[in-house]
Parts: sequence; C-alpha cells; structure tokens
Amino acid sequence: MSTTADQTDLDTLTRRLDREHVFHSWSAQAHLAPFPIAGGSGTRVWDHSGRTWLDFSSQLVNVNIGHQHPAVVEAITEQARLLTTIAPSTANLARGRAAEAIAGLAPAGFEKVFFTNGGADANENAIRMARLHTGRDKILSRYRSYHGNTGAAIVATGDWRRLPNEYARGHVHFFGPYQYRSEFWADTPEQECERALHHLRRVIEAEGASSIAGILLESIPGTAGVIVPPDGYLAGVRALADEFGIVLILDEVMAGFGRTGAWFAFERHNVVPDLITFAKGVNSGYVPLGGVLLSDAVAATFDERVFPGGLTYSGHPLATAAAVATIEAMTSEGIVEHAHAIGVDVLRPALAGLAERHEVIGEVRGEGVFWALELVSDRATREPVSAAVMGRIKSALFERDLLPFVSENRIHVVPPCVVTAEEIAQAVAIYDDVLSTSI
Ligand code: PLP
Repeated sequence: MSTTADQTDLDTLTRRLDREHVFHSWSAQAHLAPFPIAGGSGTRVWDHSGRTWLDFSSQLVNVNIGHQHPAVVEAITEQARLLTTIAPSTANLARGRAAEAIAGLAPAGFEKVFFTNGGADANENAIRMARLHTGRDKILSRYRSYHGNTGAAIVATGDWRRLPNEYARGHVHFFGPYQYRSEFWADTPEQECERALHHLRRVIEAEGASSIAGILLESIPGTAGVIVPPDGYLAGVRALADEFGIVLILDEVMAGFGRTGAWFAFERHNVVPDLITFAKGVNSGYVPLGGVLLSDAVAATFDERVFPGGLTYSGHPLATAAAVATIEAMTSEGIVEHAHAIGVDVLRPALAGLAERHEVIGEVRGEGVFWALELVSDRATREPVSAAVMGRIKSALFERDLLPFVSENRIHVVPPCVVTAEEIAQAVAIYDDVLSTSI
C-alpha cells in the first residue's frame, strides 16, 4: 500500500508526542522508540501507513476475543450513549449483568463479584479479603510469578519487579513446580509435584500455619513462562490450604477467559479456590476491568462487617457493558471451545514441529492459545540463550510482520483465541524463518 503525506504525518506526530510526553512502564525512558499502532481487527493490527502485523502477543495477553470485535465495540458505544459513568455505590444494570455473567462461569458457590480497574488491584483486594476473613497476616506466593504493580501485588510477585518495590509486609515466597528447571532434582512430573507440595508444607510449618492468611497462585504462571502445573499440584495445594485453614486465591488474570481453552485454567485441575481474581480477557481490555470472585464463605464475612476497600470506578458501566458483550460473544461464537480445539489440533503439533527443526527450542509447553517456547543455547545443559539473541529474534519477528511476546529467554505464542489455522501457519513460517536466520 502506498503511504500518503497524511499517514506519514500521523505516524511522525504519534512518535513525537509519545517521546515528548508519555512516560512508559518498566523502562528507562531515554532510548525508547515505541512503534505506532493505528488500528486492528481480529488477529491483526496496523500502523498509519496500513502495514499490518499478526498479533501473536494479544498485546499483554489480554485481547482474547481479538481486536475490535463488533459486538463489544457496539455494546461500549451503546452504553456510552446511555450512561458513561456512575458511582460504585449505585446499582447499575450493566454492572449487575456483568457480575451475574461472571459468577455464572465460576464453580457452584460463587455468587458475588467485587470489581476493580485491573488485575493488580484485584489481587490487592483478594489479599485484603483473605486477611480479614482469617484474621491472619501472611501471604504465600511463588517465585516465578507476576501478580501486578501495586503495594501488596508487586511484593507477592516472584520476579525481578518485586525487588525495587518491597514496601508491603507479610509476604513469603516458595518454589512451585517447574519440571524443566526443577528446584527439586525431579526426573518426572510426579516427583516434581510431590516434592513441590512437600516443600510448600515445610514452608507453611516453618512460617507458622496460624499466621498465614492466604496462598496466592497463578493457576498457570503466565509471564513467568506458561508453567503448566503437573496433575495433582493445585489439588495438593488446595488440600494443604484446607488442612491449615488458609484461603486459596487463584489468579486467573492472564490464564482466564478462554486463554487455556477453558473459562478458567483451574477447571481441569479438580480444584475450587476460595477467591478467583480476573481481568484482561474478561472484556479483552477494551475498557480496563478486573475483579475478585468471592466464594460464599468469604463473601459471608462481609455480610455484617464493613469491607474496608473501594474504587471510584468499581464496576464502571463502559467496562462492565464490554464484559457482558464479550462473554455473550465468546459463548455464542464458541470462542473458548475454538481456543481449546486449535490448541490441540493445530498449535501443539505445529510448535512440536518447530522444536524438531530448531535445536534452540529446549521445551514447548502450554495449552489452548497459551504457549511458551523456551530457547536454550544447549539442550543438554538447558543454558538460556542470551539477551542479545532474544533481542535479535524480537526485532526479526517484528520486521517479518509478527508482533511477538518475548520474556527472558522465551517466545510466548499467545494469539487471540479467535486465531485461525491459516494464521498459525503464517506465524509458524515466520518463527521458522527467524529461528533459522537470527540465532
Ligand atoms: N496477574 C497476572 C497473572 C498478570 O499476568 C497480570 C498482568 O500481566 C496481573 C495480575 C496484573 O494485571 P494488571 O496489569 O491489569 O494490573
């Protein structure tokens, strides 16, 4: 497509305004050069000149329904005409419908939803609920996890982002199962599971069970590497939580709402948590929204007792109208079932094929449309490839018109749930090409 002067102007203006005025997340600001995106549809986004990219990042793994789904855009527009904002203390139809729809996806015994603006404050409030419900203080969470960038959520996080932010108290970390880089010298998933559960039991005992309010876990740690837990692990954590009277909080912010080919990633693990946190896929981030689903037992704690928490935009009508439309469209179009089927039938074999062709891929893991390729310089030692190699891969994928999600030594293959077999074939050809030429 030829580029007009207007399009070039818009591109230049977007870049200039960004560099002059926008302060970006998680970055030293001086040498950033964010690229402008002007629009999108489904699995594609484009710049002002009309150059398109396959979005195999779903942005920050949130655009589960794809870009610009017409029913969701229409619902936001309709709600904007009716009532754009209203205080959380009022009753609002969009909010009520969203809460009903979200509770309808949860296991039996979950009726109430506390809405937040995103995933971090969902975890923040779930931690607060666990503390008030138990009258205890400590929160246990995994190394290799991300729970968000607010007071307690960032300290619960188990990656480098916690370290400059450790101002909240009462947080203890433990190792979870990660067979490829086992902390437990395990040779099989069964050993990894059993030893990780033994380790967690020892941490609980050593910390003093009666001081522990909650265990906060991503059902599948996402940014940390799509680390699917071995069968039995989540059920084992549930049993420990029950034994010691601890609230189990499952963070479904990234893994939920279709990403794994189920509404919630924990569903196939035979476990029911006490609190579920969500955000991202609930409305694909079209308008910021997150929340906590409360089991009836935790909700009852606040029947007569004041819940000491709130947000100006809790249950914002634009965000909740978008959630209702998202859940309706995902249901009527079978998008969650599609994510499951495309994971089993197309992504799993296609990524296994890539690993056969490229020695640099040490492991492929995931489910649904939630996958990671772990890149190593040596399959025997599992030495991660360098940051320089990852930088080259990231640039090369972008140059070949694919938006990647790259984290540490991994490429996360995380397209929208609506991705087609043809788009996956295009993406795999690009990964193939880049892994052959850019290592
Ligand atoms: N929890 C998980 C598992 C996440 O992946 C994220 C964000 O990536 C968060 C919480 C934080 O969500 P937000 O950025 O909406 O605050």
